[in-house]
Amino acid sequence: MSLGPAVEGWFTTGPEPALLGSRCSTCATVYFPPTSGFCRNPACDGEEFEAAELSRRGTVWSYTDAQYQPPAPYVARTEPYQPFALAAVELPEGITVLGQVADGYGVADLRVGAEVELVVEPLDEQLLVWRWKPVTELGEEADQ
Ligand SMILES: [Zn+2]
Repeated sequence: MSLGPAVEGWFTTGPEPALLGSRCSTCATVYFPPTSGFCRNPACDGEEFEAAELSRRGTVWSYTDAQYQPPAPYVARTEPYQPFALAAVELPEGITVLGQVADGYGVADLRVGAEVELVVEPLDEQLLVWRWKPVTELGEEADQ
């Protein structure tokens, strides 16, 4: 059994993973998750989309701690449940993508406007999910 994406077609895996969105061929608006059908831009009547790899880095727009265990189908990774951090990250494409924060990081490592990078980590023994990892500038930790 090998590791595969939890949601097929939403992100790439490998050393430099990226989220996969859809770009409208008419107005170039980018959507995530990938979409099809009609462009949701009210000023656009486009119906064709092309796959677009989104930027791997963005800035934290908002974040929170999931203090309570989410309802099923959420699968607890630890027993007892341990809170994890969620970040809404604004990408240069103009969209905001919610994701968990990378393993080993919590809300104490986040601040609004800070840069984060997309990583792909195992959700369980079979599935991979994307997460947001704080970007630590060189030297920042040496100051402490
Ligand atoms: Zn469009």
